[in-house]
Amino acid sequence: MNAAQLKGKGKIIPKRRGLLLVVSAPSGAGKTTLCREMAHRVSGLQYSISYTTRAPRTGEVNGKDYFFVTEPEFMQRVRQEEFAEWARVHHNLYGTHAGFLKRTMDSGIDLLLDVDVQGAQLLKKRFPEGIFIFVLPPSMEILMERLRDRRSDAPEEIERRFRVAKKEIRNFVDYDYLIINDKIEKATRDLESIVLAERLRMTHADQNWIREQFLK
Ligand code: 5GP
Repeated sequence: MNAAQLKGKGKIIPKRRGLLLVVSAPSGAGKTTLCREMAHRVSGLQYSISYTTRAPRTGEVNGKDYFFVTEPEFMQRVRQEEFAEWARVHHNLYGTHAGFLKRTMDSGIDLLLDVDVQGAQLLKKRFPEGIFIFVLPPSMEILMERLRDRRSDAPEEIERRFRVAKKEIRNFVDYDYLIINDKIEKATRDLESIVLAERLRMTHADQNWIREQFLK
């Protein structure tokens, strides 16, 4: 049970900070679909929408998939220290909004972030209590197939993403959990299990509530 919902006759009283769940994967591992699926499936879990200077792919919507901004606007936000982390990935800039992150976690909602390995490293320094999850495809061959199937990137871009993926995978040891995304349904269940188990950790429990209820 979410500690936020333990007491208060139907009233939600935030008793703990939201968890910070950071998901990284080489591009093409299916992480974005996975994260979005999760946010629909698990209540009290919010997907963090990043800022990016990348052009929208077909079907992507501003404010839903990303906040699409120009490079000058992005750099202005960097100077104003609006980002909890930001990084250049595949020629484009990506950043996580610090204010949104803080507000969401302060209100007791768990936050799911989809960031590259550089972003995850920065977040780990800033939020050592975060939960770091690495997603891999079943094989490098399947990764290549998935990158090609996306059809929205040019062949050179696909090749480059494939080379970068190899480098990114070297960072697997920095993560707490591993999910192999073979079938999306199974991978979603794996991620859901991580979220549900992490919510039950004693370190996240409202210890004052336990003392008041059972030890007085
Ligand atoms: P794509 O362009 O394929 O949507 O994303 C490319 C990469 O950027 C992915 O590895 C994705 O995780 C990463 N990414 C997306 N949002 C952020 C962010 O806010 N910060 C960082 N560091 N990486 C991000």
